[in-house]
Amino acid sequence: MSPTTLGEFDLIARYFTRAPRRATLGIGDDCALLAPLPAGQQLAVSSDMLVEGRHFLSSVAPERLGHKALAVNLSDLAACGAAPIAFTLALAMPRVDEVFLEGFARGLFALADAHGIELVGGDTTAGPLNLCITVFGALPAGQALLRSGARAGDDLWVSHPVGGGLGDARLALEVFRGNVALPGDAFEVVRLRMECPTPRVALGQALRGVASSAIDLSDGLVGDLGHVLARSRVGATLNADALPTSAVLAGLPRELRHEYTLAGGDDYELLFTAAPGDGFAVLAAAERAGVAVTHIGSIEAAPDLRIVDGRGAALLRRFAAFDHFRAEP
Ligand code: ADP
Ligand code: MG
Repeated sequence: MSPTTLGEFDLIARYFTRAPRRATLGIGDDCALLAPLPAGQQLAVSSDMLVEGRHFLSSVAPERLGHKALAVNLSDLAACGAAPIAFTLALAMPRVDEVFLEGFARGLFALADAHGIELVGGDTTAGPLNLCITVFGALPAGQALLRSGARAGDDLWVSHPVGGGLGDARLALEVFRGNVALPGDAFEVVRLRMECPTPRVALGQALRGVASSAIDLSDGLVGDLGHVLARSRVGATLNADALPTSAVLAGLPRELRHEYTLAGGDDYELLFTAAPGDGFAVLAAAERAGVAVTHIGSIEAAPDLRIVDGRGAALLRRFAAFDHFRAEP
């Protein structure tokens, strides 16, 4: 089939239109229509954009890109403790590439189906490859997990895969950049973490009423923790040697391990705080969600972040977070 036979509306119909489930009206009109939420529920809304060369490499399989575009959005809902409902997709691409669209849609809808949510609308245009998803979620009014809720004395926790940890996505990126070499099987492990992150949707909801604050890790632990500290007007001590790592990352020199876990980016884990007396509730929430959590530090009244090693000695290096308008990390 010639790549130019499919027009805008045909491609929307072929790759993105499915029978509505919960939506009153799905794709095809000027607006989608969603039924109001039940009384006492609040709507949570978040958007995340993925730009080729900046958020993903052109080498990524379309199916994984479809997964990741939705996963990073679901991660934001997870950080607030919201249950996902629906999403929209704004898509710019240089030309109609059906192999790309077919794989992208497959990855996208597989994750959507896993969470029982539907695509209700969007926009499609020609342009440099760029994906923007907006997700809608629901939660009991007033129960959202916020960045501003951390209190002095709270424990600091991070989620991670059972047997895995932080920093794998950054390690995979450094392999792609040619800065680190890994055996093929080890590379596949960390590459999957970079290209196919698992949003902690169940954990976020299980932490409602348990965590005092939460954020999802997208730009690197130190920077994202900085947002929580600033919004909560507190400081923290973080034990760099307590950060969970995969077996692959554990084999790296200590300096790199610290750099990738503290400032890696693209982890899509939940960083959250809870009162010390709620430790068992945190572990129970993690168990229900089928994910591991590790205690990595504590919130303190004294401002700023203190990073220490396992013996309590200060680590002097500052770990900058990723900032799109500053230099590459
Ligand atoms: P309008 O011109 O009114 O903005 P469009 O012609 O762009 O509407 O889109 C037609 C329909 O297809 C709308 O319902 C829109 O929400 C939907 N749509 C367009 N692009 C996408 C996409 N990438 N994914 C899902 N739905 C889409
Ligand atoms: Mg349009």
